[in-house]
Amino acid sequence: MKDDLRHDGARRVGQVKEVTSLANPIVKEIKALALKKSRDQSRTFLAEGLKLIIDALDRGWIIRTLVYAKAGKGKPMVEKVAARTVASGGLVLEVSEKVMASITRRENPQMVAAVFDQRWMALKEVVPARDQTWIALDRVRDPGNLGTIVRTADAVGASGVILVGDCTDPFSMETVRATMGSMFALPLVKATPAEFLAWKKTTDTRLVATHLAGAVDYRTIDYRSKPVVLLMGNEQSGLPDELAKAADALARIPQTGTADSLNLAVATGVMLFEVRRHLLTLDGGK
Ligand code: SAM
Repeated sequence: MKDDLRHDGARRVGQVKEVTSLANPIVKEIKALALKKSRDQSRTFLAEGLKLIIDALDRGWIIRTLVYAKAGKGKPMVEKVAARTVASGGLVLEVSEKVMASITRRENPQMVAAVFDQRWMALKEVVPARDQTWIALDRVRDPGNLGTIVRTADAVGASGVILVGDCTDPFSMETVRATMGSMFALPLVKATPAEFLAWKKTTDTRLVATHLAGAVDYRTIDYRSKPVVLLMGNEQSGLPDELAKAADALARIPQTGTADSLNLAVATGVMLFEVRRHLLTLDGGK
């Protein structure tokens, strides 16, 4: 098959391939990344949005495949990202709006999307240091909650997120969207409950678990003298006893009104701003 004219509707212009057909095999592969099975097999994921993709590149992430809609052609920032993709051995596709909408599963898609390799940090490499906060999530199920937590973790300067047990996939499109790019900023770790508990014993950290039956007001806990691991429970069932028992403190956020509990991402946000209160100043960052 000639490289510049393929039967599947792809045409190579310099380093960029023009694709207009939904049947193009690369387009099909990218579309398949909507499925966890395909993401697991290829160990890649799709992220959308020019700013987010530039931020990822600046943080050292490498694009496997860059896809941009025809409207992006000639735009300096898009061209720059395309050049960086080619320079690091990636593929660049210029696609029709129809193909872009289909890849991103949106009627009004972003102009640019990119396939990145997944990154996981090994639990044994996590050695919490002074002033660090790590967040451990027990069986988080909701992609929007996970994305919001990763974004909030980034905003407060937390060091990473440990996914304990059977969690929703952080590389799903929904979660990636909800992180608004923050998933490129901090490491993700996965562990079974047993691995997490064994790891905890090897660290000099304060494990603060949030629990609706917690006896301690979250505002009274010492978050300064040791690195903190903040453990949050599953949306439906809360923390199981085996994890709650390992905590150095069981914290509760006081509530009034009729709601039984706070949404997981909201509770995590409330906790994180308290855990890191002494480290956050208006002139300390943005
Ligand atoms: N039905 C669940 C239960 O009984 O635990 C509710 C879980 S709640 C929606 C999800 C998680 O958010 C909890 O496991 C806990 O980690 C945290 N959470 C929510 N509200 C909280 C509060 N008032 N105090 C402490 N943690 C809270």
